[in-house]
Amino acid sequence: MSRKSPRSRRNAKPASRMPGKNRTRTAPGRGRQSVRAAASAARKPARGKPHAPKGARPRRLAAPDAVRVAALLGILERLHPEAATALRHANALQLLVATILSAQCTDERVNMVTPALFERFPDAAALAAAGRAELEDLIRSTGFFRNKAKAIQACCADIVAKHGGAVPRTLEELTALHGVGRKTANVVLGNAYGIPGIVVDTHVQRLSQRLGLTREKDPVKIEFALMPVIPRERWTLFSHWLILHGRQVCVARKPRCSICPLAPHCPRTGVTSSQ
Ligand code: SF4
Repeated sequence: MSRKSPRSRRNAKPASRMPGKNRTRTAPGRGRQSVRAAASAARKPARGKPHAPKGARPRRLAAPDAVRVAALLGILERLHPEAATALRHANALQLLVATILSAQCTDERVNMVTPALFERFPDAAALAAAGRAELEDLIRSTGFFRNKAKAIQACCADIVAKHGGAVPRTLEELTALHGVGRKTANVVLGNAYGIPGIVVDTHVQRLSQRLGLTREKDPVKIEFALMPVIPRERWTLFSHWLILHGRQVCVARKPRCSICPLAPHCPRTGVTSSQ
């Protein structure tokens, strides 16, 4: 048994003889029992609300139920009645080429380039056989012009070799073309052929997460997650609506939630600051 020195014995605080003296004090007039009663009352659900399961975390993501989705679609439709692709085109080939050119470039810039391009090379065979230097010159201002020229020519060569110069009408055939992914294929299907397709670009990716429609981050997974949530006949328009809304209101850095008509139906998933 250790022995205390005379000094430590002198400095030691006398132990309280009052029971409960060292416990945390409750508010005056509230004993241990009243504290327990208050805690129990706090755990009770408000009338009409079910008990949350023990250990359950608060839900931030409202399920994309049909009523909420219908409300979102109705508002988006009223907000953007003019929704359509901004890329000017006269046929499926022109839209396909314009979509390839729109990578890392604005639609306005692409629209400035394509009239001269399609006048000089009016079909897939002409584009496939074009002199590389001349083609690059015509599309130079869209950026990454060497890669884009190469992609356009390889894609057009595929169209000529496999489809007799006509742009195919199925997702499988389109994505089998050189350099054509699901996004480009869905743009062509939806806007040139009227075949519904969900185009997942950066805006659709961001907004579908903020709106609580999916937790997926990969564009292809987002597309597949949205398919059962959005009525098929509205897939193409839905993409246009989200793209326009993403450009005008739900911008990347600070979404304009205070003026957003979707706000009552939006869980704002992942939004940390807004204006
Ligand atoms: S409420 Fe905010 S986060 Fe939701 S769609 Fe509108 S701007 Fe985007």
